[in-house]
Amino acid sequence: MELRENMDPFDAVNYFFFRAAEINKLSDAAMGVLSGTYRELRVQIPVRRDNGDLHVFVGYRIQHNAARGPYKGGIRYHPSAVLDEVRALASLMTWKTAIVDIPFGGAKGGIEVDPRQMSQSEISQMTRRYTNQISHIIGSHRDIPAPDVNTNAQTMAWMMDEYGKRHGHTPEIVTGKPIALGGSYGREAATGRGCVILMENALKEMGVASDGVSVAIQGFGNVGSWAASVAHALGYKVVSVSDVNGAIYNGAGIDVQKLLGFHAETDSVVGFPGTEKITNSELIELDVDVLMPAALGEVVTQANADRIRCKLLIEGANHPVTPIADKILTDRGVKVVPDILANAGGVIVSYFEWTQNIQQFRWDEEDVNTRLANRLNSAHLVVNDFADANNCTLREAAFALAVQRVTEAAHLRGYL
Ligand code: GLU
Repeated sequence: MELRENMDPFDAVNYFFFRAAEINKLSDAAMGVLSGTYRELRVQIPVRRDNGDLHVFVGYRIQHNAARGPYKGGIRYHPSAVLDEVRALASLMTWKTAIVDIPFGGAKGGIEVDPRQMSQSEISQMTRRYTNQISHIIGSHRDIPAPDVNTNAQTMAWMMDEYGKRHGHTPEIVTGKPIALGGSYGREAATGRGCVILMENALKEMGVASDGVSVAIQGFGNVGSWAASVAHALGYKVVSVSDVNGAIYNGAGIDVQKLLGFHAETDSVVGFPGTEKITNSELIELDVDVLMPAALGEVVTQANADRIRCKLLIEGANHPVTPIADKILTDRGVKVVPDILANAGGVIVSYFEWTQNIQQFRWDEEDVNTRLANRLNSAHLVVNDFADANNCTLREAAFALAVQRVTEAAHLRGYL
């Protein structure tokens, strides 16, 4: 596949897949299967707004591959959650679950909507209807949704409740639930915590002492806010964070604990005392040790890649760097820890939640966090060794290994 700017998101993920497929010497037929999706469901979701109007939303659940286990992946509520984007995200889940070696395949769901314009009761109604519309293709051993952008534990509680009306109490149908409904300790923090674990590993390899390391984090949702909080608690200097309202900067470091309180009150990071307001694009181009995009895709592109000044880029978000930008960063010596490894902490603890639900048992938080770190550290080691041995990037290594594992499972099942 030819490298070009403005690739659609699914083509962009497949660009990395095809390179891995070549390394693994996959046949054309096998490449055809793994570069496509298994099943795509598009549903209409009529919702009666609080003012009496009927609004019809469009939603998807896309199942990419289940060779290694049930489909797994989040549900995103965002205007950009269109078919091609959800396909890209579904395929990333296949490679993500494979590289961290948890027994799942890959899927993603989404509704093209801006939930910030809706009341809680409208969101509940929309979630319940969406759950019903996709209920014939999900299942606790078929396809297990979870939170993603603009969805959270409450969304999962509504999904579990709605699914349970037809199928009986089934907590393991979704992960990322509230603790009171069978959620796992440590799940909410897991993606952000995982990003910081990978950041620490990479800094160590690069020989950068952790003292005074500066970090800029784009996005202050679940991933960004937890990453900022964990990094701050470990003594890293979080100099900039952002949300939809803009970014804030303080070269001496931001007190993230206090910022969390400010954000809870005002629903914005902008205006936090002692910080200067900058733009999201200025944040991306800051002269920092670590940059962590932790919001939406495609924020580092051909347009700004040669102005990126960080030494290490941790992909907290899914596909934040386009393929051309990835090449520019590599050529300029910026180390990139790819999404399928960097942000896999969330789905790892989702797996722990699922197993706890099936056993009807609960692990304590320390146990969850230790197991999370062990899994991420071993995945990182394997990817790193492959990259060293083959003189390639961490992304090329992660994709090559993930494709190898999925291909092996599909061969054993007999369909490749
Ligand atoms: N939405 C998260 C991701 O992109 C978590 C998915 C899950 O836990 O199933 O990895």
